Amino acid sequence: MFNSVSHAHLAQPTTLPDFDRPSGLPAFNSVEEAIAAYDGDDAIHVLYPQVIAAAAETFLSGFPGKVLYAVKANPHPAVLRILWSAGLRHFDVASIREIDLVQSVAPDADLFLMHPIKSRKTIAHAYAQGVRHMALDCQAELAKILDETQSADDLNLHIRLAVPSDGAAMPLAGKFGAEFNEAVDLLRTARPFAVKLGVCFHVGSQCMDTEAYARALGYVRQLADAAGVSIDSVDCGGGFPVAYPGMVPPAMGDYFATIREALAENGFADLEILGEPGRALCAEGGSTLTRVELRKGSDLYLNDGSYGSLFDAAQCSWKFPVRCVSRPTSEDQGIQAFRMFGPTCDSLDVMEGPFTLPADIDEGDWIEVQHLGAYGQALATDFNGFQSESTVAVMNRV
Ligand SMILES: *Cc1c(COP(=O)(O)O)cnc(C)c1O
Repeated sequence: MFNSVSHAHLAQPTTLPDFDRPSGLPAFNSVEEAIAAYDGDDAIHVLYPQVIAAAAETFLSGFPGKVLYAVKANPHPAVLRILWSAGLRHFDVASIREIDLVQSVAPDADLFLMHPIKSRKTIAHAYAQGVRHMALDCQAELAKILDETQSADDLNLHIRLAVPSDGAAMPLAGKFGAEFNEAVDLLRTARPFAVKLGVCFHVGSQCMDTEAYARALGYVRQLADAAGVSIDSVDCGGGFPVAYPGMVPPAMGDYFATIREALAENGFADLEILGEPGRALCAEGGSTLTRVELRKGSDLYLNDGSYGSLFDAAQCSWKFPVRCVSRPTSEDQGIQAFRMFGPTCDSLDVMEGPFTLPADIDEGDWIEVQHLGAYGQALATDFNGFQSESTVAVMNRV
């Protein structure tokens, strides 16, 4: 599924002579041009290379440490190529396939296996492939790592801490992470086996509160003091937000400033600092073009949905920004609130919205659902025979 890039249904772009570099995708000036060139029947995934590169630049120049891209947010090879060519060199991977994928696209990438619970095969494969950074949150996982690497003496171990998800729209607490006393024990046990020992945490995805990072760093201070062992690195995880309708976060610079201050206050300024943004690097740089197959009153039946790239729109009722590509959306012409249904026969395949679109929208119209570059395109399945097989680069975003 990772490498399923196919351009089968895309005529060679006529307006641009070339494929986009570096993404390697067919390039169009606008989504209108991409739709005009398309003779397939499915939704189309759009990437905006310049938007992704700009997000990378924001992190590379502003985040006070190493920037790791959390590959699960969007593992499309084009996304990896865009980030690499923007200067990003570190990748947070979780599985054998993610390791192989990143190494096939960027052989010199520095990989961090930050999943706290890995299969033995994954650990062995990662180590054989040169991965020297691994996360863990319990003694049993430490034993697995030492077994599968023959107690290697060049491991960087990152102890994953449980921290609250209070400020996050997508809480991640409750699955991974050592509690205080466990973490103290684990830091002490792991210390002799690590060339570098660090801690990592995740404050929850789409974290709307800059202070969540400061609180987590204060907690790391208490923990390091209680353990009485030296730590070499602090990984602030992901969680950096983007703006969705009804969810407008503080500026990214405020997150970086808060983290920078908290690092200094807690005496971590000289340690190696890491961050693992996923959503913030690629959400705004991707969207889905979906076609209306039928209208029933204020319900639109589309060729993409919960089992495509609209999982969060359906299951979490997120209101992604939408615009009708094929008709003007303006108050003068009339607008209306719609509910949207995906193409599968499952009744969970519904996006309640409401989504504001032109009142006269109808069969054959195309809708661009924006900000799906993270956890949208990446979650799409081929359930019921519906899937998007076409990804294009669009150079100008509306
Ligand atoms: C998912 C994940 C990330 C990325 O989180 P975002 O909220 O997308 O920034 C980073 N680190 C780990 C360990 C993750 O599981």
